Amino acid sequence: MAHGSQREQHLTQDLPLPQISRDNAEFYAAAARGELRFQRCTPCRRFRHYPRPACPYCLSRDFTWELSSGRGTVYTWTIVRGPTLPAFQDKLPYNVVDVLLDEGVHFQSEVLDCAPEEIHAGMPVEAVFVPVTDEITLVKFRRQA
Ligand SMILES: [Zn+2]
Repeated sequence: MAHGSQREQHLTQDLPLPQISRDNAEFYAAAARGELRFQRCTPCRRFRHYPRPACPYCLSRDFTWELSSGRGTVYTWTIVRGPTLPAFQDKLPYNVVDVLLDEGVHFQSEVLDCAPEEIHAGMPVEAVFVPVTDEITLVKFRRQA
């Protein structure tokens, strides 16, 4: 791996990236195809995110990966003005948003191409896919057209 261990990334200028795991591998494989997919519990039909082996509502381990509309609204947000990790220094100020997707799951990400003062609760957004490495495509958002 070209960027060293996760621990080393925090000490350098490298952008810290998600680590692929047994639970999230399908999420990132879908994102690399330009698809936002969430686990959906087979017995109780609820969606969940982040990826995990069991349903937080009914504890079932049976689920499918279902395609999301990628559409939702900003539930809450913050503007990071620093200090931050060195890798994020050049991005300041940047937003961190909690998007409530139409499927009912919360997703922490960033709204691209949006000035800090323009972000507001209830703002309609849609997913966009930002390839970073061969393995990792990040899911970000932009305002709905
Ligand atoms: Zn369930």
